[in-house]
Amino acid sequence: MKPLGPIPPGFESIGGVLAIAGQPVTQLVEAAGQTPLFVYSSQRIRARIAEFRAAMPARLALHYAIKANPFAPILDLMQGLVDGFDIASGGELRAMLAAGVDGARISFAGPGKRDAEIEAAIVHGVTLNLESEGEAARAFALADRLGMTPRLALRVNPDFDLKGSGMKMGGGAKPFGVDADRAGALVRTILDSGAEWCGFHIFAGSQALDAGAIAETQGRTLDLAARLGEESGVAVPRCNLGGGLGIPYFASDTPVDLGDVGARLGERFETLPEVLAGTRFCMELGRYLVGEAGVYLTRILDRKTSHGETFLVTDGGLHHQLAASGNFGTVVRRNYPCAIATRFDAPVEEEASIVGCLCTPLDKLAEKGGFPRAEVGDLVAVFCAGAYGASASPALFLGQGPALERLV
Ligand SMILES: *Cc1c(COP(=O)(O)O)cnc(C)c1O
Repeated sequence: MKPLGPIPPGFESIGGVLAIAGQPVTQLVEAAGQTPLFVYSSQRIRARIAEFRAAMPARLALHYAIKANPFAPILDLMQGLVDGFDIASGGELRAMLAAGVDGARISFAGPGKRDAEIEAAIVHGVTLNLESEGEAARAFALADRLGMTPRLALRVNPDFDLKGSGMKMGGGAKPFGVDADRAGALVRTILDSGAEWCGFHIFAGSQALDAGAIAETQGRTLDLAARLGEESGVAVPRCNLGGGLGIPYFASDTPVDLGDVGARLGERFETLPEVLAGTRFCMELGRYLVGEAGVYLTRILDRKTSHGETFLVTDGGLHHQLAASGNFGTVVRRNYPCAIATRFDAPVEEEASIVGCLCTPLDKLAEKGGFPRAEVGDLVAVFCAGAYGASASPALFLGQGPALERLV
């Protein structure tokens, strides 16, 4: 048997059925009228944000990186819970404006911004995290034409990465940001342009679980921001320390010790150099805030054996759960946390693989896991489905179409 990932905290069984926020998933599916279905728990999102606030220094603001989950009801919920939003496309900007979010609370990163996207950001008072000298020149020209003062921050490609992170976003040659050794000069150019200077965005990596590595990266990020501030000759107004906080997806993963990260950042905040004394700091998080709050529910359509192995075939698959299938940024496929939701507290009785309905061998939701014996009609739950699920999977593949989503 291959191990399954750890089921996140906060899920219980009611009469043997998985319940989300006190509602058995059978009821949730019935109310929605179909599977596959993503269910996101607002209570889990609130609890996670409260944990973050309690552990981190009060001076650190919290932004939501909406690419993790741009479902409109989640954006509405987040408005009352976070201090700002980070977007990475014009489409995400439209989603934010539709949710009624003030542009002053939004920052826009991402390599390859179109002129129309830069223009919309300037018009709405969104902070542009500039990714290159060329993008800066385009922003100056567009702001001139509009007769407006753009809010400009600089994304810096740090000369270090986040150790142990699942996705490295800095260190060495990268398409993101301006290399640290050219950043000071570009800050001078931005200041000379008359733009509103909004400071630095330094994102070294994501999906890290080791508190020591995260704290070390944050320390180096502060050192870099201080060095660049001194080089440019002006105090740093704002500094986005990036993200980095991961969630446990696989059997050997353990949660980040956030208390440790917060304590160490708090110590650093007490000894900041003059150039950072008045800086407003934030972190931008996606999966850490919403990942564990989401469950993907799919129904078993067929139960079959092949060469002695049992396959449970569902009406879902990688078209909604690309990451769980192991095809989104993983080298070795490992099982996400997964359960037979309608036999949630039954003991393990057999080894089975849970597969999707797509005609491709890539479409695996759980490989050779230990499960209670499940039958056609049972519901399967894939956990850690709140981030990079619905929005980061090829929903149109094989003519399937998107899953339903619900926030409860
Ligand atoms: C993707 C991304 C994030 C969010 O990453 P998570 O791993 O979901 O926390 C934050 N900032 C930037 C610039 C990103 O590209």
